[in-house]
Amino acid sequence: MHHGMVRGLDQPGGAGPTSDVVRVVTRLAAMALTMALAAALAAAAIVGPPACAEEPAARGIGGRWSLRAGEKPTYLFRDGGRDVDLFSYHCRDSNQDGIDEVRLAHDADHLVMHSQGYPNHPTAIFPNSGNPNTIRAQDFTFRLPLVPRRADRITRLPMGPIGVALNGVVFFNPFEQGGMNAVAGYSEVWLDSCCGHPQQTGVYHYHKYPTCVKSPFADDGRRHSPVIGFAFDGFSIHGPYESEGVFAMDLEGDGALDVCNGHADDERGYHYHVTPGRFPYVIGGYRGVPDPGNNRGLAWAGTGPIVDNATGANDLGAVIAEVRPGTVRRGGKRDVTIVLDPAKARRGPVPATAPAWVQIGPYEAVAIRRESDAVTATLDVPDDATLGVPLDCHLEFDPERGPRHGARVFKRNDVLRVVE
Ligand SMILES: [Zn+2]
Ligand SMILES: [Zn+2]
Repeated sequence: MHHGMVRGLDQPGGAGPTSDVVRVVTRLAAMALTMALAAALAAAAIVGPPACAEEPAARGIGGRWSLRAGEKPTYLFRDGGRDVDLFSYHCRDSNQDGIDEVRLAHDADHLVMHSQGYPNHPTAIFPNSGNPNTIRAQDFTFRLPLVPRRADRITRLPMGPIGVALNGVVFFNPFEQGGMNAVAGYSEVWLDSCCGHPQQTGVYHYHKYPTCVKSPFADDGRRHSPVIGFAFDGFSIHGPYESEGVFAMDLEGDGALDVCNGHADDERGYHYHVTPGRFPYVIGGYRGVPDPGNNRGLAWAGTGPIVDNATGANDLGAVIAEVRPGTVRRGGKRDVTIVLDPAKARRGPVPATAPAWVQIGPYEAVAIRRESDAVTATLDVPDDATLGVPLDCHLEFDPERGPRHGARVFKRNDVLRVVE
C-alpha cells in the first residue's frame, strides 16, 4: 500500500493540537475500558469455573488445539499438560469500533485468526517526536498450522509480520527498514514502554518481548513461561522463563535455544522463547514450515537464521539518565525517580515541567512530580506482575501540543524489574 496516500487520508491538515487532544481522550477511554475488562476478568477468575460437569466438552481439532462449543466457541491450546484458553481475554472490542480485535475460526489444517492488530494496552501517543506514524486498525487474516511441521531448513524471517501475539498484534523481526536494529540500535527510542510502535501504514508491532500483552497466566518466574503468541509456522512463542529463576536463553547443552530461539521438551514439543536483551529477541528464523499466506515476503524469504548485522546508531540521545530504584516489589504502590539529563537532548529542549505521562512496562504512573532534573512518579504494581523481566520507560511532555508544537517523548530500555 502506498503510505503517502494513507497518511494523506488521515491527516489532511497535518496532526494539529485538536487531533492530539482527541487521541489522548480516546486513549484514556480505551484504557479505562481495558481496566474495566481486566477487573471483570479478574472477578470471573476468582469465582472460577465451579465444576467441570458444567463445561461443555472440548473436542480436538488437530495438534494441540481443541474447541469447546458454547455461545462463543473457545479455542484451547495444550501447554505444559493443560488445555488453556489463551484468547478469550483478547476476543473483545476494546477499541470500540464494533469489531472484536481478535476473531478465531479454523479449517482442517489451520487456526484462522482475524485480527485488527490493534493494541489493547496503553501505548505511547503516536505520532510523537520520535515516530511520525499513527496506529491504525488492520484487517489481518493469519493462518496458523494446527500441526506445525519441522522443516529440513530454517526459513529466513521476512520484513513485516513474522508471527502474532495473543492480542492479535504482530511481531516483526529485529530490524527496521534500512537494516537498523529496532531494539538496540538507531530507533530503540521509538518503541514505547510496551515494546511496540507503528510503521508507515499504521501497523503496530513488537520487535521484542512485549511486556504488556496480557496472558491469562501470570509469569512469576517459578515455572516455564506461558504462551504469549505464535510464529507463522504454528509453533508457540513463550515468555523468557524455562524453569524457576532460569531464562531459557541461559540454558546450555542439550536444552539450549537454537539459532531460531527454540528448543523442544516432552510436554510442549518444539517451541520458541523470547530472549530479553539478546538478539534476535523474539524468534531468529522459522524452524517449521510457515504458512506463506501470512506474509508475501515468505515467498522469497530464503533460508537460514537472521544475522545480527545491524547498521546505524541511535542519534536521539539518552535524556533518561537513570531510574531509581532499579527494582520494585510487586503488590502495591511504589515510587520511582527518573533522573533526566536535558543536555543529552538532540531534537529540541526538554520541557521544564513535569511530564504528562510516565509509563514503565505496562504500568502507568500517577502522581507525577518534578524537582529540578528528577521526576518522581508512583506505580501501582499488581500482585500478579511478571517478575524479573527488564521493563522500558517512556515519558511524554505536553502531548496535547502535538509533535510539531513542542510535544516530546523520551525513552529508555531495561530500566526497572519487578521482584517478589
Ligand atoms: Zn519497527
Ligand atoms: Zn522452553
